[in-house]
Amino acid sequence: MPNIRWNLNNNGCLAVPQSNRENPRIVLQQLRAELEADLRALKPTLVGNGHVADNAGVLAQQIEHDIHRVDAALERIHTGLYGYCIGCGEEIEMNHLRADPAVDLCVSCGAKVKRLAQGT
Ligand SMILES: [Zn+2]
Repeated sequence: MPNIRWNLNNNGCLAVPQSNRENPRIVLQQLRAELEADLRALKPTLVGNGHVADNAGVLAQQIEHDIHRVDAALERIHTGLYGYCIGCGEEIEMNHLRADPAVDLCVSCGAKVKRLAQGT
């Protein structure tokens, strides 16, 4: 029986190694690789018999959209703008970035955009 010792943090969650957690470039590149793998897994469903399954098409579009967001975030790392809101220029809340490393708006600008999108 192998003795697996999980690297647990104080909350009992599996801890992301410190170096990765503090390096958004690595987090984003891992995320991008996962999204591309998902997209590849989806492709056979899309081209089968020239018939596009609606659900798979929607999912593929969502994944492609996410890949674009990750690419944009990587671009912002290059230009030194990563972690700053593209709406107001303020720093994006750390918890917000941890929840979605590709996010480009702070919590309040994100809420504003959502309200506009809903037309309310
Ligand atoms: Zn903002």
